[in-house]
Amino acid sequence: MSRETNRADLVIVGSGPAAMAAAVTYSRHVDPSRRILVLDELTTLGGQIWREGPTNRVAKYWMDGMTLPNIHRMKGQVLDVLADRPGVVFQSPEGETQNWIGDDLILATGARERWIPFPGWTLPGVVGMGGFQAMLKTGLAIDHKRVVIAGSGPLMYPVGRSVQKAKGQLLFLGEQASIAKLVYFAAHLPAYPEKAIEALGYFAKLWNVPTRLGTWVQKAGGDGRLEWVQLSNGKKSWHLDCDYLATGCHLIPNIDLARLAGCAIDKDRVQMDHLCQSSRPHLYAIGECTGVGGAERAIAQGIVAGLAAARQPGLAQHHSAALPRWERFVQLLDATFSPRSELLTQIGEDTIVCRCEDIPHGRIKPMSCWREAKLQTRLGMGPCQGKVCGPAAKALYGFEPDISRPPISPLSVQALLQLYQSEINES
Ligand SMILES: Cc1cc2nc3c(=O)[nH]c(=O)nc-3n(C[C@H](O)[C@H](O)[C@H](O)COP(=O)(O)OP(=O)(O)OC[C@H]3O[C@@H](n4cnc5c(N)ncnc54)[C@H](O)[C@@H]3O)c2cc1C
Repeated sequence: MSRETNRADLVIVGSGPAAMAAAVTYSRHVDPSRRILVLDELTTLGGQIWREGPTNRVAKYWMDGMTLPNIHRMKGQVLDVLADRPGVVFQSPEGETQNWIGDDLILATGARERWIPFPGWTLPGVVGMGGFQAMLKTGLAIDHKRVVIAGSGPLMYPVGRSVQKAKGQLLFLGEQASIAKLVYFAAHLPAYPEKAIEALGYFAKLWNVPTRLGTWVQKAGGDGRLEWVQLSNGKKSWHLDCDYLATGCHLIPNIDLARLAGCAIDKDRVQMDHLCQSSRPHLYAIGECTGVGGAERAIAQGIVAGLAAARQPGLAQHHSAALPRWERFVQLLDATFSPRSELLTQIGEDTIVCRCEDIPHGRIKPMSCWREAKLQTRLGMGPCQGKVCGPAAKALYGFEPDISRPPISPLSVQALLQLYQSEINES
């Protein structure tokens, strides 16, 4: 028995800004009979930034475009990329797996937060900034709860606004990047006026929240749940009592599917040419899986990839002129919000690094590489499959995590049997 194989003309993984721009642009430049399939594990359209619905005119424009009759959406997880054709293995929420193939495949899988472990980071109440943002957007009640946001990257500010809107008590905002790095960043921001305006908007709304630059979390503590955090600016340390700590060290691209597809990866980003084509023919990579640079860049790339897939090389070339500026922005963000050395040296022997398998720093430290740590300690072998501890181990020990393996998310044994039935029958 082999998996059912279905066809669309263009298959897109993700339904965030990048994916929407690609789908709508493609739809408008091809014959209306050509079918576009958009696959996403989220029920809502809009990816991470617009998961609660359109918040501005740009979002509304692309979301309205997604109602074009030849764009079809399916909810579920993409587990693997086919080796021989532009296509994917998809699992519906009911657990059914199907192959979906197209003339072209676009990966627009976004980014996720990067954790650098510190003592107490696994306590309930310590949450990733992105995850906290997602929970707030989907209705987490935090009325009057005391919230500290301390980590790194521009995501802190939208999260701060969401805390205010949810009537949480935002006690403190701490950015770990040094003041020198932030001054350099601010000096280059006028080259990205849309980002500068966005930043000013957040500063205007968060002006009354105590904010410190060059400040990071040293520890979190509490009796079975977060009760306090210890912050430091390198000169002094202090405690703040709180109910939630939203933290995380900037974002990192989601490259697992691109890795499975055999696409070239460099600096943990999918590599693509000026028309957003990856190293594999008919496979495009757009948005934050190619570098963390925000929604405007994701949309600009989506337009280029949509045009290229619609076989409009002249137009794609024309629109690609916008991309080099955004590539410089990705580099500026990465350089500004990379973890400072103090974050990499403050963990204790008993600080958990792999929270799925409860493995402390003291057991991983003597290992020489990711593979040895995996074999000897089970690092990276829990349900997150190294998505959280992999980047942490890279930052802390310089380990280069192994290639990703399919399926990229854990499945029940029944679903696994269904997924690989044909291979099992053959062997
Ligand atoms: C958790 C989180 C929250 C964020 N919140 C904000 C915010 O409030 N404001 C802001 O300015 N920026 C926010 N960002 C940054 C924001 O993601 C980007 O600026 C922008 O949304 C990037 O667009 P994108 O299309 O590249 O990716 P995304 O918007 O991240 O879209 C990627 C999509 O791919 C889907 N996907 C990934 N892998 C699979 C798979 N295997 N199978 C099926 N579907 C898959 C995801 O469900 C997601 O919908 C957030 C980032 C994260 C990680």
